[in-house]
Amino acid sequence: MKCVFCNKEAVFEASTPTKKISLCEKHLVEDVSKKVKLAVKKYGLISKNTTILIALSGGKDSISLMHVLSKNFENKIIAVSVNEGIKGYRDESIFFAKKYAKEFGVKHYVIEFKKEYGFSMDDVVRIMNKFPLKPCSYCGVLRRQLINKFAKKMNKKYDDVRLATAHTLDDEVQSIFMNIFQNDFEKLMRCSAITGYYKFNNGIKPKDFPKGFIPRIKPYRLVSEKESMAYFLVNNFKTIEGSCPNISDAYRNRLRNALNKYVWKSRRYDFKLNILNWFDAILSKKLRNHKIKSSELKECKICGEPTSGEICKTCILIEKIKEVVKNEIKKE
Ligand SMILES: [Zn+2]
Ligand SMILES: [Zn+2]
Repeated sequence: MKCVFCNKEAVFEASTPTKKISLCEKHLVEDVSKKVKLAVKKYGLISKNTTILIALSGGKDSISLMHVLSKNFENKIIAVSVNEGIKGYRDESIFFAKKYAKEFGVKHYVIEFKKEYGFSMDDVVRIMNKFPLKPCSYCGVLRRQLINKFAKKMNKKYDDVRLATAHTLDDEVQSIFMNIFQNDFEKLMRCSAITGYYKFNNGIKPKDFPKGFIPRIKPYRLVSEKESMAYFLVNNFKTIEGSCPNISDAYRNRLRNALNKYVWKSRRYDFKLNILNWFDAILSKKLRNHKIKSSELKECKICGEPTSGEICKTCILIEKIKEVVKNEIKKE
């Protein structure tokens, strides 16, 4: 197959709203860059003074995103990886995170569960029977809070820090369906292009952000999982194979397969993008009508995030985890 733009050998089939088109290496790279620039413009993700802080797991999506951003934007870019302490997995992916950050000229920081909380994810997993939920639930909460804290620290040092995550079009559409099926509106709102605080989503401009607020932005939101993978491969990047040993996303995997099968069988190549655009339209309408009560504007006494009580749900959960883990470690 030949590239539709230059007639060179094609390496990838990209979806357009009406058909699939074949792209060569050069035009695949261009297509991904174009989609990231479009997302940045469409959702107002980055301003002139913005410092982009990349949440760099060391997986293929975050490495590719870091590459695209560093090649296409003049902004200051820094990256942070969280070492949760998952032996044989995270230490290896951080090796690649470090390697590519250095190669792309991005200043890279690593923060550790063990240092910040006094325990690692391996510790938590070891005594998992003491907890009602699966490890990923705790890991996610603990990681999000550390990154948030770190981002706030960076925001004192650099201008207008925004945290960029490498969520792809597929991740977003899967999450939208999962949260609709579970009737979880709080989580559903995290599927917007800018998140962190529900008031500041689609339709509300970044200039309205409160002081000290760190927006989470998704520059990869219009790039599909497959295209991100192809970008990674044509650039000859490498990282660890496989996923976290604690992962329990059977539900997401089933949904991914079902959605991909539907697109393939029905040839509705614009399906995922349509769902995303539909969701954005609904959400911005919903949020415009959403009145914030003054009681909702309190700040958590521990972490400073918006909360309805004195201490936010995340901090309450973290205190509980800390207590259980410390008691158990003492016993051993
Ligand atoms: Zn081409
Ligand atoms: Zn808190």
